[in-house]
Amino acid sequence: MLKATKIRLYPTAEQRGFLNRQFGAVRFCYNTGLRIMSHRYKRHGQSLSAKHDLKKLLPVAKKSRKYGWLKEADSIALQQACINLDHAFQRFFDAKQKAGYPRFKSKRGKQSSCHCVGVKVGNDWIKVPKVGLIRAKVHRKIEGKLTSITLTRTGTGKHYASLLFDAEQAVPEPIQCVEANKILGLDMGLSHLSVDSMGRKVANPRFLKEAQKNLRRKQKALSRTKKGSARRAKARRLVAKAHERVANTRNDFQHKLSRQIVDDNQAVIVETLHIRNMMKNRKLAKHIGDASWHALVTKLAYKAEQAGKRLVKLDPWYPSSKTCHACWHKMDAMPLNIRSWECPSCHTHHDRDINAAINIKHQGIIQLKAEGLSVSAHGGSRKSGMSPVAA
Ligand SMILES: [Zn+2]
Repeated sequence: MLKATKIRLYPTAEQRGFLNRQFGAVRFCYNTGLRIMSHRYKRHGQSLSAKHDLKKLLPVAKKSRKYGWLKEADSIALQQACINLDHAFQRFFDAKQKAGYPRFKSKRGKQSSCHCVGVKVGNDWIKVPKVGLIRAKVHRKIEGKLTSITLTRTGTGKHYASLLFDAEQAVPEPIQCVEANKILGLDMGLSHLSVDSMGRKVANPRFLKEAQKNLRRKQKALSRTKKGSARRAKARRLVAKAHERVANTRNDFQHKLSRQIVDDNQAVIVETLHIRNMMKNRKLAKHIGDASWHALVTKLAYKAEQAGKRLVKLDPWYPSSKTCHACWHKMDAMPLNIRSWECPSCHTHHDRDINAAINIKHQGIIQLKAEGLSVSAHGGSRKSGMSPVAA
């Protein structure tokens, strides 16, 4: 089982200088590779493999006078840049992922380089090729074999290392028999970050919205400064700092929430949303970016896997909001502004989001059974043999 952990680094001034040059070399390889591939693709309709064709160009470039400085960097990190570019193209050509065309990496903002040979970690240091030992705050015991270290520098100039290691313990067998009362349906919405099938609502922590005023003010200040001036550099750091604080707080919150959800349940059912479609609506998009459901689902997914528990992602076409969970009556429409409603067929009164979460749970149970799991009934779902007509 692969596990990842992120630690803070405290490089010396000299090491910072080296890392900056290394990030620059990695970025250069990525951007140059992208330029070559785009040119070939647009001019000649040829596609080449970044992984194979570009990697071969690296030693040639290193021998040249112009690009000889690339020798200074960890060669594996440069090769990894080519592999990353390859993945970016694969995502672009994969119709399912709908990823955009790969973009050039900017020298502003986050920088990274990945190292997988000659890496080590100690009690308060890490080692990467050509830099030597970098002081680090290792906050948890590292068990297992270290497979790679990804170094990053944030927009505010902080350094981190993401350690990937093989925990040398097998992934636990996924649970085969689920108790119905240990299954949680989650509806992720705009009014709340999540509402579950037990009727609990987790308020949407609108960190971004709160910090937005502050951010906007700093962004305006940035736009007023002159290009290339010292004031501009300072203003940019302030903007990056505000962004970073928001991201950290949100991450922290999501880790705690997902940990609790996975610990308390055997299976979690979520709906994958039409986020891409909703993003077209800019007003909604701000809230969505804020709530960042996707990031939460990702955290739920790997925590569930590590615990041998189930995460079921339902297709977004499932009409969880429109269906009455008590009698399966399906409404024709359910506009976003309706927060509660009464079923015209069985007269049950519904909270919009709780009803949706219960439906999500029911649909998840159907899917778990279809995958061959047994779902024990106590505390369980009503009419488990029946399924609502999905359309
Ligand atoms: Zn009903």
